[in-house]
Amino acid sequence: MPDYNRQAAIFWWLMVGSGALVLSGCLLWLVQQPWHTAAQIALGLALAVGSGLFPVRVPGTRHSFAAGEIFIFLVLLMLGPAAAAIVAAGEVAIGAFRTSKRWTSRLVSPAISGLSIWCTGHLLMRVLARLEAAGYSAAAAVAAAMMVFASLYFVMNAVLLTGVQRLKRNEPFFRPLDAISSLRWVGMAYAGSAAVATLLYVTWREQGSGVLWVMVPLLGMLLVTLHFYFRQQEAHEAMREASAGAAAREAAMVLRETEAQARHFRELQASERRFHSAFTHASIGMALVQLDGRMLQVNRALAQLLGLTEDGLVDHRISEFAVGDDRGELDELLGRAHRRDFAGFAQELRFRHASGSNLWLALSCSFFTEPDADAPCLIVQAQDVSDRRRAEAGLQHMAFHDSLTGLPNRRRFLERLGVAVERFRSDPTRPWAVMFIDFDRFKLVNDSLGHSAGDELLIQMARRVQERLRPHDMVARLGGDEFAILADQIEDERQALVLAERLMEALRRPFLVGDVELIASASIGITFSAIGYQSADDALRDADTAMYKAKGAGKARYAVFDASLHTAVAERLRLEGELRRAIDRGELTVEYQPVFEFGGNGSHAEPGRLSGFEALVRWQHPQDGRMLPASFLHVAEETGLMLQLSDFVLHSACHQLRQWQLADPANERLSISINLSAHDLASPALVARVSRAIVESGLRAQDLTLELTENILMSGIDGALDTLAALRKLGVKLAVDDFGTGYSSLSHLSKLPIDSLKIDRSFVSHLQRDSADAAVVLAIIQLGAALRKAVVAEGIESASQMEHLREMGCGYGQGYHLATPLTAQMAGDWLKRPGSQQLH
Ligand code: C2E
Ligand code: CA
Ligand code: CA
Repeated sequence: MPDYNRQAAIFWWLMVGSGALVLSGCLLWLVQQPWHTAAQIALGLALAVGSGLFPVRVPGTRHSFAAGEIFIFLVLLMLGPAAAAIVAAGEVAIGAFRTSKRWTSRLVSPAISGLSIWCTGHLLMRVLARLEAAGYSAAAAVAAAMMVFASLYFVMNAVLLTGVQRLKRNEPFFRPLDAISSLRWVGMAYAGSAAVATLLYVTWREQGSGVLWVMVPLLGMLLVTLHFYFRQQEAHEAMREASAGAAAREAAMVLRETEAQARHFRELQASERRFHSAFTHASIGMALVQLDGRMLQVNRALAQLLGLTEDGLVDHRISEFAVGDDRGELDELLGRAHRRDFAGFAQELRFRHASGSNLWLALSCSFFTEPDADAPCLIVQAQDVSDRRRAEAGLQHMAFHDSLTGLPNRRRFLERLGVAVERFRSDPTRPWAVMFIDFDRFKLVNDSLGHSAGDELLIQMARRVQERLRPHDMVARLGGDEFAILADQIEDERQALVLAERLMEALRRPFLVGDVELIASASIGITFSAIGYQSADDALRDADTAMYKAKGAGKARYAVFDASLHTAVAERLRLEGELRRAIDRGELTVEYQPVFEFGGNGSHAEPGRLSGFEALVRWQHPQDGRMLPASFLHVAEETGLMLQLSDFVLHSACHQLRQWQLADPANERLSISINLSAHDLASPALVARVSRAIVESGLRAQDLTLELTENILMSGIDGALDTLAALRKLGVKLAVDDFGTGYSSLSHLSKLPIDSLKIDRSFVSHLQRDSADAAVVLAIIQLGAALRKAVVAEGIESASQMEHLREMGCGYGQGYHLATPLTAQMAGDWLKRPGSQQLH
């Protein structure tokens, strides 16, 4: 007994022990009885066991009623407690043997039953004996005693049986409430059994055993019938319950389904309502469109977008309202829907507003099936994206155009040129040319007249260039004053050169900026597709290089690219870097070319006497040796080193002359001429710079002459007049250099506060009697006389030229024939030689 605790085990042994004792006594009694008593006991046992096989279930409860007790009680009444104990123990033993596999249960249950019935049975016998002795032997007395007995028996049996279990579970041995609750049905069954047993016993006592032979089988049949009847009832009930459950489940299901359908329907209705309200009140345009493109329904927003009413749209094809090519595109898109080979589309297309203007609509289209429609249709949503489109177009324009001139910019130009490059590679019959235009001295205009004047000039220049191009040419502003032209599909290279000349011609004519007349010129570099370019960048770079060649050759001209220019560009870049250092390292020097008096027309000078020097800058390059201004001045101009260079020459020359003057009183009357650049004239500090040089050197102002070329003076004349006047006020003299090559008009010339004119050496060095140059020179000399300006001839290379100039009345002369430019040292030495100040 593994699951038995000590108490339970003790109790178990107690029960089994006392049960065994009682039953042994009973069996001992049995062997002393006649055989028919034993037979009766055996019959009772058989009946009790047999009726146990057919329990009658109490309807509606879990309890059943076994008729076995009836026979046990009957045996008790007829044969006494020992017989009843044997039958009860036997019946319970057989039952326990069937229902339990545990030998502890198989032993204790019959022991308790036997014990209980033996004890209570003895009590009953005593009561019945007393009742009989007192004269109460009637059936009612027996029945009453039987009832009490049955109750006692039941209680004892139940308490002892459950006691084993309770002790095993460590629970209190006896609980009155539990006993009462279980008493209800089982107790009733015992009472019933007791009543039936009493009835049988009384009948047997009165009528003899024959009636039992009828009653007992009848009772058995009744019990069996009841058993089966209730079993059937139970089965019916179970089936009914099962089918009722199934029906209920089915009903619930049906209910749920119907509910779901109803809900679905309600949702559908709601969503349809929502859709229609969304459709009608949407802020974006919407249309339900049939697959053939006809609009079934439109909302107000769409009608408003197109400036029409809803009625004006319905039944029309939506593509009718699209513009130009976009109409075909929309039809094509909708056509795909018709063929069902699309899953919707999103496209931005142009539409026509009723007012005649165009607008951009972003359309998004997808299939749409209305709940009870027989064919699907399309739902088209339309949103006005005109503003965004406009902004994009603006940005696009900005990205590819120059904001000042409205011309395409570098990016756009390179893009177009790239196309031309590619095209030429596959089809060399359509050559092109690229021109790089750079305006000469544009920076000067900017510096002297201000940026707005510069901008205005650029706009006018751009217009002039554009006017002279053919429709498929393109001009772009690359930045600053740089422009590029793609002369597309030219017949031959000559055609491009003619265009370049035409452009230069056009740009040379004066521009009117504000009320200032400006003379400009441009240098143009040209390259041709024949070089065999791989990229647009290369072509533009070479045109740029050629432009520098044009500038280097004296500006206002064009140059065509050839491969040797690449080295020239590299050279220029090298010089730029070196020139910067040259000024700091003292590699720049000044040479002095003597200028002599001729004593001609209007001059009060002594003929042949030295009048002074012209200071000319030189670069003593560490590797390249002595370099002349022509090879580096343009570099100084482009890199912004010009002012530094001028200051250097100004200070050196003023200082030098003052030294010579101090060294010898005979030099006191000598003067010095210094060349200024356009940048100097535009520099606001020019007057201050010049006066500083004078003060620092101690030179008299009238001994200094500032030379400005005719072109420099004329291109910024109005802005320069004040500066010139201020210089004049310092006492400094002014000369027009290279006179005769520029565009000065006589009206301007008379206005200029100048002291002398220097005839350009191109007229002098080719001077021959009766030549055209001679006429020009004579005219200039006469002009000088008329305006009371001194006239200087430069570039005199021969005695005859000198003679001729003297005859014509030229006041001063300078040239290799008279003296070449000299270093300061040489000039100083030369001055010291006796008679050096007089021409021989
Ligand atoms: P320019 O002002 O016309 O200077 C006279 C140029 O003619 C000098 O050239 C001089 O060497 C050259 N020359 C003088 N006599 C003869 C001659 O008989 N025959 C020939 N063929 N040439 C003669 P250089 O020194 O090469 O200067 C060239 C130009 O560079 C100058 O022309 C001037 O415009 C500019 N330049 C020279 N030095 C300076 C300077 O310090 N500052 C500025 N801004 N420009 C300068
Ligand atoms: Ca000069
Ligand atoms: Ca000159």
